[in-house]
Amino acid sequence: MKNTDIRKIRKSMEKSLEEKRYEHTLGVAYTAAALAMCHGASVESAELAGLLHDCAKGMDEEKSISFCEKHHIGITDVERRKPQLLHAKVGSFLAMNTYKVRDKDVINAILNHTTGRPGMSLLEKIIFVADYIEPGRKQAPHLAEIRRLAFQNLDNALQQILEDTILYLRDFPDDIDPMTEKTLEYYRKEKMDKEKSEV
Ligand code: FE
Ligand code: FE
Repeated sequence: MKNTDIRKIRKSMEKSLEEKRYEHTLGVAYTAAALAMCHGASVESAELAGLLHDCAKGMDEEKSISFCEKHHIGITDVERRKPQLLHAKVGSFLAMNTYKVRDKDVINAILNHTTGRPGMSLLEKIIFVADYIEPGRKQAPHLAEIRRLAFQNLDNALQQILEDTILYLRDFPDDIDPMTEKTLEYYRKEKMDKEKSEV
């Protein structure tokens, strides 16, 4: 991915997203780039994935359902109830087919940015965390702590975000994507195993 391509993609995001969403997008791209510098991932891939992670947010609910049906993208029960969740799947499809991204890790980072998944790559973690901590976010619980943690221990930051997300969604149980729970379980267990092996 050359610099010119990144610039082109940034411009097309500016055109296709609402102003606030575009601001958020830039925040995620730069935060992801900084996290990549800190944790030794590709800075370019992080910036690119950050720029594209919400590229399907401009699509309304009905359209995103028909888009998935047309392109044989599976829709889960939760996604049917909350079609906004589909922007991750639709976004990764657009990244591949419209924006011609060939890097699988970038595609996966877009695909998994809302729920995470067990066994995420470094880049996937970076985008997931950057989405939560970018400078435009104001009110999440533990935000200051998670921001600091993100540059010290990415896994702990990831786990805290998942814990807080599940806790927040407890009041809206129908909105919990089972994948978020699976991801949290996986990272809780991974951390416990790590602690055990250190004793
Ligand atoms: Fe998103
Ligand atoms: Fe986002």
